Amino acid sequence: MLSLRLPLDEASPLKILCLGAHSDDIEIGCGGTILHLARQYPNAVFHWVVFSAVGVRAAEAKHSAALFAGTALRGPLLKAFQDGFMPFVGGEVKATFEKLKATSPDLILTHNLHDAHQDHRLLAELTWNTFRDHLILEYEIPKYDGDLGQPNLFVPLESEVCDKKVRYILEAFESQKNKLWFRQDTFFSLMRLRGMECNAPSGYAEAFHIRKVAIGSIR
Ligand SMILES: [Zn+2]
Repeated sequence: MLSLRLPLDEASPLKILCLGAHSDDIEIGCGGTILHLARQYPNAVFHWVVFSAVGVRAAEAKHSAALFAGTALRGPLLKAFQDGFMPFVGGEVKATFEKLKATSPDLILTHNLHDAHQDHRLLAELTWNTFRDHLILEYEIPKYDGDLGQPNLFVPLESEVCDKKVRYILEAFESQKNKLWFRQDTFFSLMRLRGMECNAPSGYAEAFHIRKVAIGSIR
């Protein structure tokens, strides 16, 4: 399969906006892709936003963002919206999005429009509503509701990157370890299935939903 690459412009850094409703969403959904992009595009910067990060969850989100993005991290911007209630304060969430326009991202990593979690869906809707001339990839989050679909964009990952992703998640989000699903085999198994679906040489990949892409440009 022909691989598409993001343009590498040494003069101007690749700006990536990472959006997550809750403290560990970005990492679970696209942590491997972030590690991969950081390696492939050394001048990339990651603007990191978590909309519900309170108390210990805020400390964990901050620690994790630094682990994943390192010196390329911009932020993180941590908001304190109540978990599960974002659609009911949609105006305030939208106001945060309006401010994010200033980051002028080249690539946006966000939730899936068809995610079963209402907070995730709202962020996906507001991403499309706010950024109308941008490359948007929607990541997936495994969950009780069983909403995994059929993604159509794949990022093959080296095994070492997958190991690092899972190690960082388990290290950073100590407060989640009492959840039955919050285990390394959950994270590895989804990457393994997505790796099979795209013939990843390592066997592992992350997958996204992409709704619009333009190839080439006319100047
Ligand atoms: Zn979430």
